[in-house]
Amino acid sequence: MAKKQFKAESKRLLEMMINSIYTQKEIFLRELISNASDAIDKIYYKALSDDQLVFNQADYYIKVTADQEARTLTIADTGIGMTKEDLENNLGIIAKSGSLAFKNENEAKDGHNIIGQFGVGFYAAFMVADVVTVTSRALGSEEAFKWKSEGADGYTIVPATKDTVGTEIVLKIKDNAEEVSYDEFLEQYRLRAIIKKYSDFIRYPIKMDVAGQRPKEDSEGEFEEYSEEQTINSMVPIWRKNKNELTQEDYDNFYMEKRYGFDKPLKHIHISADGAVVYNAILYIPEHTPFDYYTKEFEKGLELYSNGVLIMDKCSDLLPDYFGFVKGMVDSEDLSLNISRELLQHDRQLSLIAKNIKNKIKSQLISLLKDERDSYEKFYKAFGRQLKFGVYNDYGANKDTLQDLLLFSSSKEKTLVSLDEYVERMPEDQKYIYYASGASIDRIEKLPQTEMVLDKGYEILYFTDDIDEFAIKVILKYKDKEFKSVSSGDLGIEADPSEETTEAEATDNKELFEKMQGILAGKVSGVRASKRLKSHPVCLTSEGEVSIEMEKILQAMPD
Ligand code: ADP
Ligand code: MG
Repeated sequence: MAKKQFKAESKRLLEMMINSIYTQKEIFLRELISNASDAIDKIYYKALSDDQLVFNQADYYIKVTADQEARTLTIADTGIGMTKEDLENNLGIIAKSGSLAFKNENEAKDGHNIIGQFGVGFYAAFMVADVVTVTSRALGSEEAFKWKSEGADGYTIVPATKDTVGTEIVLKIKDNAEEVSYDEFLEQYRLRAIIKKYSDFIRYPIKMDVAGQRPKEDSEGEFEEYSEEQTINSMVPIWRKNKNELTQEDYDNFYMEKRYGFDKPLKHIHISADGAVVYNAILYIPEHTPFDYYTKEFEKGLELYSNGVLIMDKCSDLLPDYFGFVKGMVDSEDLSLNISRELLQHDRQLSLIAKNIKNKIKSQLISLLKDERDSYEKFYKAFGRQLKFGVYNDYGANKDTLQDLLLFSSSKEKTLVSLDEYVERMPEDQKYIYYASGASIDRIEKLPQTEMVLDKGYEILYFTDDIDEFAIKVILKYKDKEFKSVSSGDLGIEADPSEETTEAEATDNKELFEKMQGILAGKVSGVRASKRLKSHPVCLTSEGEVSIEMEKILQAMPD
């Protein structure tokens, strides 16, 4: 029978898997088990709205069986199963989540990174198996089909027999090669440990036949052989567990298992709320900006569970845009399950949860800023721009939430400074919060306009990001101090009376200034003598609300 070819992208990933020298091969099991669990979720969810379908808890499980002699590992589930078309479409083409990785070409060149940092789904099986067989019967179908592949050269699909709905995946575990042994993936203790490590919270039982010896009852010193089916996982979802039962590794594993990102999260927030609204949530602040973060393609949102069942992948109503980088999940018993997407948007419980979550994220970020400055600055490098957009958007409605989270470069110490820190160390006679805009710190430092302010010993915030000044215009005042551009006409600095520009100076140079203005006609509105300059002959200032830098940006914007 002719083999069908994998799609090009899938083939590349597959080849990477086959040739993987990645040490954490064990994650293949996590991937297959989570697919099995997803498949059972699908039946469960269907049963909720379909009276014909009864979900009998005891009928739904995942079974892992190792056969050392045949060198096979079988993962079977009683989930929704796959039709012939599903087998073709879902296993012949790389799943969407995995293909994301290929957008980042650099990482794709070195397969380890990809495999190491996040799940790759079904194909991970090829890290440990040289033949993979998937036999499946879909819900509502009498027929079953068998998908089989020995790797990158393609796959076949043939009719098969299967008595029950669900999927059975048989891995023919690779023979040991030089320096690499695959035997561990056939060993009961090792398999149990892998399941415990990655899949403990899976909501359905993961069963294994466990064989061993145990002391015989009513006898002394005698042992008997036994073999029994045991459930390996505790089935308590991580978000229902007590915070102090969980380790950092548990949270990190959950992040990976859920594929919230390819990085290690910078911080997690575990919420167990039982006030006006009852919910559990695990949220993460990622360390790196997702590659598509500042593009239209990026979709914010949290996974939404209703009493343990996933009802929405990306519920965007749970996060304000400015916290769109937050990943994670929310589980609430208060939500009605059969609710439609539209209704959900107006759900009162949901908006209460969203508000609650917003406040938690803010307070977590504030404490990160106060207690773990390095981590905060890392976070700020990745997502600070988003916060500044957040201040600016919605007519400043969110400035109170966000202004304390902003950091700027400054003339002092060349480090990032918060508005609070700036105001705290202002000398008493300083009236304004000064800032200077420019393309880079270097360029700003060369601005003649900064001289007078710096000479007074005042600190200047350096705005190098387009959005900085726009955001500040929305904030207007921080702790009663107004913002002032160093290039504005009136700096509010009391000059030494002896240095006051005299009428005389203006009249003396009248002719010169008029000539200059003539030459610069249409470019400047006036030419004046100034006391603000020390070592530069000339500088530009502006009088209105819009600074020179903002003018440049506004002019560059498309109409
Ligand atoms: P993902 O789980 O991210 O979608 P995978 O590569 O792990 O990507 O799986 C690809 C697809 O194959 C799944 O989305 C699902 O539709 C299907 N699939 C895989 N395993 C099973 C299974 N045990 N039962 C039903 N469908 C499955
Ligand atoms: Mg998967």
